[in-house]
Amino acid sequence: MESASPIVRIQHISKSFGSVRAVADLSLDIGTGEVFTLLGPSGCGKTTTLRLLAGFEAPDQGEIFFADRPIVSVSQRINVPPHKRDMGMVFQSYAIWPHMTVFENVAYPLKARGIRRGEMGERVRRALSLVGLEGLEDRPGPMLSGGQQQRVAVARSLVYEPKLLLLDEPFSNLDARLREQMRVELKVLQRELNIAVLLVTHDQVEALSLSDRIAVMDAGNVEQVGTPDEVYSAPSSPFVRDFLGRVLVLPATVTAVDGDAVAVRVPGRAGSELRCHSSGTALAEGQAVSIAIRPELVDVQPSSGRDGGANTLTGEIEAVLFLGDSYECSIRLDDEQVALMHLPRNRTWREGEVVALRFPEDDLTIWQA
Ligand code: ATP
Repeated sequence: MESASPIVRIQHISKSFGSVRAVADLSLDIGTGEVFTLLGPSGCGKTTTLRLLAGFEAPDQGEIFFADRPIVSVSQRINVPPHKRDMGMVFQSYAIWPHMTVFENVAYPLKARGIRRGEMGERVRRALSLVGLEGLEDRPGPMLSGGQQQRVAVARSLVYEPKLLLLDEPFSNLDARLREQMRVELKVLQRELNIAVLLVTHDQVEALSLSDRIAVMDAGNVEQVGTPDEVYSAPSSPFVRDFLGRVLVLPATVTAVDGDAVAVRVPGRAGSELRCHSSGTALAEGQAVSIAIRPELVDVQPSSGRDGGANTLTGEIEAVLFLGDSYECSIRLDDEQVALMHLPRNRTWREGEVVALRFPEDDLTIWQA
């Protein structure tokens, strides 16, 4: 959903803290009305990128444009202060002021911007109704639940109708159920307001479910930018493949190449062969590679004793963990390889049971070892 004229253009931004390169020559665009997420492991530079955009850090190199206006340019010595950037921000800790009521918390940014009292009341009420907190205006900050505090923080960030909302791990202090609810609320609110959002998270479910596009980051760099489906289904590097979701990776040896069609030998009881597609990867017979697949795309069935059909390996269930909605099973393929699978509850899976795993040819990907 990249728009013709992005609301944010970050160009070749770098930032070091002493010898630590937090952000390294990073460029990306955020479309108008787009939910754009920075996803990556701890320390990869997500928060620093967000803070550079908000104006809480100054970069060593690079430029940032906001609504076509330069707000940061190292070469031109431009650095617009945070309160003049027209961005709302919600922090991990909410940062609700405990000595203020809900109304005073939400009104604070309007006060700081010199908005008249009459108009202030109207705008605060509108912001509170957006997050479902009508009627709680006079409640003191400390007398709110975690979810309510989070909503106050969102209302406060939206009250001056910014063009961009910056969210830094906004749900990480909430319990799992509330986090799910707030995710849905945020999505509905964002669509209603058509506001652009930059979300920083290390939570894959949050990133996949909320984003129009995701930038997967590693060590201050963007590894891949794409829609949730693109980064999940077509990762561009082993890092992205292994960071997002679960993946089964097996060592393999190429046994035949015919155009795009490839056969590989994988570990398994009968020296099994699997077919897959090279998808542009240059391969030669005898070459050591890895094959990968999302476990949910592997079809696991009880063994019929006549396994060995096309693209099928057999394995033995080593351990079964009941998860409520499914079973987590580790399936031993050979002395070294174990596949971790979530199996459905429509039957009971037993430890020691032999199962057949069918790998759909189109879902297997092949990687240089
Ligand atoms: P997390 O998910 O743990 O918050 P992150 O991806 O947001 O991580 P950043 O907070 O951007 O990562 O940090 C990137 C790197 O820069 C880290 O190595 C971090 O230790 C370092 N860093 C960040 N801020 C500072 C600072 N103010 N002083 C020194 N080093 C910093």
